[in-house]
Amino acid sequence: MSAQRGHRITNEELFDRACKVIPGGVNSPVRAFKAVGGTPFFVAKGKGSYLFDESGKRYVDYIQSYGAVILGHADGRVTSAVSRAASRGTTYGAPTLGEVALAELIVARVKGCDMVRLTSSGTEAAMSAVRLARAFTGREKILKFDGCYHGHSDALLVAGGSGVASLGIPDSAGIPRGAVENTVVAPYNEVPSLDSSYAAVIVEPVAANMGLVAPKADFLPELRKRCTESGVLLIFDEVITGFRVGPGGASVYFGVQPDMWCFGKVIGGGMPIGAFGGRREIMELLAPIGPVYQAGTLSGNPIATAAGAAVLSILNEESYEALERRAERLASGLTKAFSEAGIEAQVQRFSTLIGIFFGKEGVTNYLEAKASVSLDLYPGFFAGMLSRGIAFAPGPYEAVFVGLSHSTEDIDRTVEAAAEVAGQMAK
Ligand SMILES: *Cc1c(COP(=O)(O)O)cnc(C)c1O
Repeated sequence: MSAQRGHRITNEELFDRACKVIPGGVNSPVRAFKAVGGTPFFVAKGKGSYLFDESGKRYVDYIQSYGAVILGHADGRVTSAVSRAASRGTTYGAPTLGEVALAELIVARVKGCDMVRLTSSGTEAAMSAVRLARAFTGREKILKFDGCYHGHSDALLVAGGSGVASLGIPDSAGIPRGAVENTVVAPYNEVPSLDSSYAAVIVEPVAANMGLVAPKADFLPELRKRCTESGVLLIFDEVITGFRVGPGGASVYFGVQPDMWCFGKVIGGGMPIGAFGGRREIMELLAPIGPVYQAGTLSGNPIATAAGAAVLSILNEESYEALERRAERLASGLTKAFSEAGIEAQVQRFSTLIGIFFGKEGVTNYLEAKASVSLDLYPGFFAGMLSRGIAFAPGPYEAVFVGLSHSTEDIDRTVEAAAEVAGQMAK
């Protein structure tokens, strides 16, 4: 043993330190491993499909920052765009060419989305889209679907799926009744009845915060029809699906055009970002030309827009075909691994997105997702995979993110590991 290296810090030591100065040790709840047990690993660096923790352990990563890094970690084309931008200054509080370029890239790809405003997170995008929809319609009620997540703003957190769901907190403390009295929650995949008291319906066109639940064939077209009939604005929250299920996101994929969109994750290339957009007549109600106030010190940040523009310029039809082939290989491999071990599981894939549900039946809404999660098989699967160097999300309601950096070998290794873990679970 020649290499007597210095003591490497363990995840347990770091988590102890973190818990002293950060509530729960994390800056976003799902990262704390509460839903799966154990200690979170602290990432030292990422490269492509891999994460390396502070103790030096390598993981094949299917979290991919919840979909924010579609090209994989530390892609050279993105990191050089980031360092070029940073060398010119990190934020100015004045408009830049980079914001215009990213907005142009988005509107060019998303049919019907005439204008966008950039924010620093998806939460802000959804919150601002709702404010704008209320101003445009002069109405106050909004409808969201059970298990869809639209960020953590007061009015939208009800029945929010994702981390809220895996912690078993149906909503959140600290939200005044008044903030949600105009939010109506309806089951996903059922077209709700609407009337002229509603300003907007907000929906994840493919639900990716309650595992992965695809829309039934007529759900989105019928929802579009019903919204139009009642003068209700339809908002697609494409913070995950945007530029992930295809070059134009879900609205282009399905040929269903909402009135407004929310974006985030992919469009920032891993930097903090969000955007909301829509028809010109709606967007022009925003200050400074209209009466709806919305702002942000770091909105349209030059580093975030440079990273996002680099990513969107790289993605093309072939990227999505490649992504879908990988997702298909992983989904069918996992399905086979579970069925050969005699574990009842549904690996639900839609386009490039995957969700794993344990149980006999496919999942179409949040009630069914919760029933699957209550079987409590995910934590064992998660732990078995993690110990084999494969990181799925530390919560049963998160999607599996395959990226362009995952190789065939990564996927095949994942499937082999899943077969071992499923075999152990069956015992
Ligand atoms: C992640 C997410 C958000 C929130 O975005 P943040 O950048 O985390 O604030 C909103 N909607 C959907 C569908 C998301 O997946």
